[in-house]
Amino acid sequence: MHIAGHPQHLSAQQRELIELAATLGREKFAPRAESHDRDATFPFDNYEDLRQAGLLKICVPKASGGLGADFATYVMVAAEIGRHCGATALSYNMHVCSCLWSGLIADALDMTPEQRADHEANRAIHYANIVERGAVYSQPFSEGGAAAAGKAPWGTLATPVEGGYAVTGKKIFASLAGAADFYGVLCTLDRPGATQRDSLYLAVPAQADGVSVVGDWDPLGMRGTVSRTLLLQDVFVPHAARLMPEGLYWQAAARFPHMFATLSPTYMGIAQAAYDFTVAYLRAEVPGMPKVLRRMYPTKQIAVADMRIKLEQTRALFLQNARDATVDPDKDTRMRLYAAHYTIMENAQALAALAIRTCGGQSMLKSLPLERLYRDARCGSLMLPWTAELCVDRLGRECLYEAGERDEEIE
Ligand SMILES: Cc1cc2nc3c(=O)[nH]c(=O)nc-3n(C[C@H](O)[C@H](O)[C@H](O)COP(=O)(O)OP(=O)(O)OC[C@H]3O[C@@H](n4cnc5c(N)ncnc54)[C@H](O)[C@@H]3O)c2cc1C
Repeated sequence: MHIAGHPQHLSAQQRELIELAATLGREKFAPRAESHDRDATFPFDNYEDLRQAGLLKICVPKASGGLGADFATYVMVAAEIGRHCGATALSYNMHVCSCLWSGLIADALDMTPEQRADHEANRAIHYANIVERGAVYSQPFSEGGAAAAGKAPWGTLATPVEGGYAVTGKKIFASLAGAADFYGVLCTLDRPGATQRDSLYLAVPAQADGVSVVGDWDPLGMRGTVSRTLLLQDVFVPHAARLMPEGLYWQAAARFPHMFATLSPTYMGIAQAAYDFTVAYLRAEVPGMPKVLRRMYPTKQIAVADMRIKLEQTRALFLQNARDATVDPDKDTRMRLYAAHYTIMENAQALAALAIRTCGGQSMLKSLPLERLYRDARCGSLMLPWTAELCVDRLGRECLYEAGERDEEIE
């Protein structure tokens, strides 16, 4: 079954890239997923495969030597990877965002001609790092305070110095810590009275003086992301390290909200995988398991029907969301986006839980992938800026208030 729907609705590039991701996922990533999960090791081997397949440059524009995939194509490919290894798909998303945000999203935003020219020159350097040298970028923005939820300026500061910036701060849950070549750090331009608008998105070389990775990493799920803590102490980066012009992240977050929705395709893939496993298990087709059929029991059939309904609901919103991504979406589109993101994150864990209940005790043994899917699925709705709680929070407010409305105005 295709997560992306019937192939006839896909472009030739979409079909080709989804098939490529499916083959890599099935043949390479799935067999390695158990050991990366058990040992909480970063899947360098999977990244070498992504590099060889050209998938690291999926969202680098064609003019810069990349594959030029659009938003919809990328999320479909990401979901296919997530079906086979959640940690690879989630960390791959951090890498791809460095290209999406500096690429098609930045192209849709307002810049002065000088900013646009400067941005073109800067991003050409980063795209060459990826296209020519196979560099991997990550995206540490979480700090453990209110900034990642969009409620305060970043605590990580970029102080203007001769030729560039000196960056100081701490990022928690930095997926690809110790594995990426560049950390795409969100920070605040250090100047008097700086607000959230004074945001900066800088590519910090992993080898730069003042960069260190600290702390352990022994979480419930998504263990292969190796999301340890990143410390930055007076790290010099040149002006060309800007992945977006000063202040543009703020505009992007306000005008292109789908930029945050790229976290959910991984979990769409996990939801699909939980369903796939259940069907195979009930049909006695899971390799290494005794050939005991369970599909003839009405309770199993009802459970699997319930799973399929949840999966189709999830997929429908996922695909709608993929098509909707645009600058300045109208209010309905924005609300559907929150609903879609919430649904994918929550249904992934609901489906994984149902899968274990339906398949039964033997299915949660560590020799099978289902218990990993269950643990990985639990992580989705925790991810800022759009945790399940914050999606509900935004949706509830926007259902009841039009822009700028205040309760005091009602007599
Ligand atoms: C596997 C994994 C990989 C990750 N990878 C990355 C990464 O690569 N880069 C990165 O930057 N981050 C990453 N994160 C971090 C993630 O996005 C969150 O920042 C992190 O999980 C937040 O944890 P916290 O306990 O500090 O959240 P808190 O900020 O303490 O929030 C706890 C909960 O309170 C709610 N909440 C928070 N703020 C508000 C508010 N203002 N109003 C109402 N409710 C609020 C939210 O629902 C949130 O879930 C990753 C997380 C996981 C689990």
